[in-house]
Amino acid sequence: MISQINHIGIAVKSLENHIAFYRDILKLKLLDLEEVNSQKVKTAMFKIGEVKIELLEPTSEESPIAKFINKKGEGIHHIAYETDDVVNEIKYLEEQGINMIDKIPRYGAHGTKIAFLHPKSSGKVLTEICQK
Ligand code: ZN
Repeated sequence: MISQINHIGIAVKSLENHIAFYRDILKLKLLDLEEVNSQKVKTAMFKIGEVKIELLEPTSEESPIAKFINKKGEGIHHIAYETDDVVNEIKYLEEQGINMIDKIPRYGAHGTKIAFLHPKSSGKVLTEICQK
């Protein structure tokens, strides 16, 4: 079951150019920097309350984030909802007729298990479900 928003993903060309805004001006806590090879991104994770802000910088032109920036520019990329069981959640969503990009979970930042819904099924908002 989905319990809360886990994080909001924001696509940026360079983490360096954006970290100061979140860390020094908004004064969010910078949890860590991580490279997620499966997604070809570097991430900076900030925390505000129970919600995290995930800045995503592509490490390759093949990265989905590079493709997103080329098409739409920098900005909000996805919203991630937290679930206690990502496998069951995928099964449930497919039963509801939702088109899943990931039918099998993959690994996201912080060792989470994640899956993306197809934006066609979620009002063009790229939606992720993730399990800690
Ligand atoms: Zn995410």
